[in-house]
Amino acid sequence: MGVPPGLIRLHQQPIILDGHIDTAQRMLDGNVDISARLPDGHVDVPRMKAGGISAAFFSIWVDDTYGPGRAYKRALALIDAVRRLAATAADVELATNGEEVRAAVSRGHVAALMGVEGGHAIENSLEKLDGLYARGVRYMTLTWNNGNDWAGSSMDPNRAGGLSDFGKHVIRRMSQLGMLVDVSHVSDATFWDVLATMTRPVIASHSSCRALASHPRNLTDDQLRAIARNGGVVGVNFFPVFLDDHFGAQYAEVNRRLRPEFDAIRARHPGQPGLADFEIDKLRGAHLQGLDIPDVSRLLDHIDHAVQVMGIDHVGLGSDFDGISVLPRPMKDATSLPLLVAGLRARDYSDSDVRSILGENFLRLLSAAP
Ligand SMILES: [Zn+2]
Repeated sequence: MGVPPGLIRLHQQPIILDGHIDTAQRMLDGNVDISARLPDGHVDVPRMKAGGISAAFFSIWVDDTYGPGRAYKRALALIDAVRRLAATAADVELATNGEEVRAAVSRGHVAALMGVEGGHAIENSLEKLDGLYARGVRYMTLTWNNGNDWAGSSMDPNRAGGLSDFGKHVIRRMSQLGMLVDVSHVSDATFWDVLATMTRPVIASHSSCRALASHPRNLTDDQLRAIARNGGVVGVNFFPVFLDDHFGAQYAEVNRRLRPEFDAIRARHPGQPGLADFEIDKLRGAHLQGLDIPDVSRLLDHIDHAVQVMGIDHVGLGSDFDGISVLPRPMKDATSLPLLVAGLRARDYSDSDVRSILGENFLRLLSAAP
């Protein structure tokens, strides 16, 4: 009796849930339709399907140039762009919890989730935070590279402090709503304030390991252990600058050299930071190709390290696709996920461990939200 084991395997392809992709800016500012295959960038629906990516958090990234009076509107416009995709593409469904992700996947569709990146999007208003939740946002990265009035950023020397009293109100409200608190990008002081305040699991949607690459965007072993104790999940970032210090130094040099050209691109796209950044990433990517780009084994080293420090139940993926100018060799876009899956299997992770890393760990948190 029963179904042959081989058949069960066939019907139980692992759910790959990417914790962070930066494709929404492109959809809004460039009016790009990702339901068809595109000649550039990392993500569109056909390439997600080809790579086996069944679900992704579309980052609702609010650039630091959007101040009070504009930041929240920018977030709403990006949310509308993702909702429009789900409403018009036959094979994309908006999802706000684990059950909706599994239902979409069972129909052969891609599940689109949303996370806001940059707490300045709420313009210091809990009502606006509620508004984001009501529109389907299920995590918020407390800061981007800019700190804000209530949380410090790892990349903002002027705003690198901890959570203010209002910041604690924000994360308590997120907890009540069932919106995950995302500590990617935050300062170390804010990180520890969040972990001291939160009883529900937190995530780092797209961060790698500082023990292997010293970039301040990465998490220390103490921080990884604290997230594991809290029951949370870290989505390991694919960006080679966060994977390898030697490459990071070369990248910084290329940026210095190209700065005048970046400024010219920004001047050509006033009011369209998403489009300008996409063009900048393309130009930068072309100049990086001659360098020593780390390969996918370096990404696997970060995953291994996170698993060793945190345990298998706390590690996921957060590619940063379409927000970064280069990927570990020989990955080129969303179709390259099978390289990563094969790499995990080659490192002797069991089927169940592979599933945990690819998506089940993030799904557990989405199912547990109130
Ligand atoms: Zn980011």
